[in-house]
Amino acid sequence: MGRVIALANQKGGVGKTTTSVNLAASLADLGQKVLLIDMDAQGNATSGIGIDKGQIKQDIYDVLVNEVELEDAILHTKRDKLDVVPATIRLSGAEIELASQFAREKRLADVLVLIRDEYDFILLDCPPSLGLLTINAFTTCDSILIPVQSEYYALEGLNQLVNTIKLVQKHFNPTLKIEGVLMTMLDSRTNLGNQVVAEVKNFFGDIVYQTVIPRNIKLSEAPSYGMAIVDYDPRSKGALAYEALAKEVLATDAK
Ligand code: ADP
Ligand code: MG
Repeated sequence: MGRVIALANQKGGVGKTTTSVNLAASLADLGQKVLLIDMDAQGNATSGIGIDKGQIKQDIYDVLVNEVELEDAILHTKRDKLDVVPATIRLSGAEIELASQFAREKRLADVLVLIRDEYDFILLDCPPSLGLLTINAFTTCDSILIPVQSEYYALEGLNQLVNTIKLVQKHFNPTLKIEGVLMTMLDSRTNLGNQVVAEVKNFFGDIVYQTVIPRNIKLSEAPSYGMAIVDYDPRSKGALAYEALAKEVLATDAK
């Protein structure tokens, strides 16, 4: 049965989407069958993995709100083993529309069971909030991967995230685990970045991944070409880091 991992942090710009896209591609390159589900109305994971807007007939909004079958919203990518459920700007209304619906926290869980067996990994790229879309992801997933930017105030807001995880465990998903905490955008030339990594390791202990993602300009360029970093510049530091992360995720169980 596929391992379902939500990539979440209510802070924007911490590397959720970059990690979703590149972890998905690197896991696929390791022979895993991967489904990436874009849960953010910005649709950055969708375009970042190379899907043109024109290709999209149905998106995650239709699945969550209009009862379209998840299977019918799946698109194949250029990568053999990597599929995507896209998001478009239409998803921005979903939080409000879902609010009045029956079993609103379980919409994604109800549809995902039907295709779970077809994949080794299902990655959920969450929006930068702890609203209903993120709650749907947490209710569905086995574990949460938390990207944390290696900068001052890195720990800010993480208490709120941990409390939300506890509430979802209590009410909807008692076996929900933390997959790992990933330090992103580390500028290793400065002491500050390394200090922050040490501080977060101190706070979270061994759930912090050994792999740290460096700040790497190639990682920010690749999405505008609709390419994963391993295709855009396979020898870049960013590509090597996401390959290492994929191996680490494969080798470790959620805690
Ligand atoms: P989120 O999904 O959490 O909002 P993104 O993954 O979209 O964050 O990243 C925010 C911005 O930072 C994007 O422009 C992205 O290209 C850039 N970025 C992400 N990770 C890195 C990195 N390791 N090095 C350089 N730029 C990065
Ligand atoms: Mg994002």
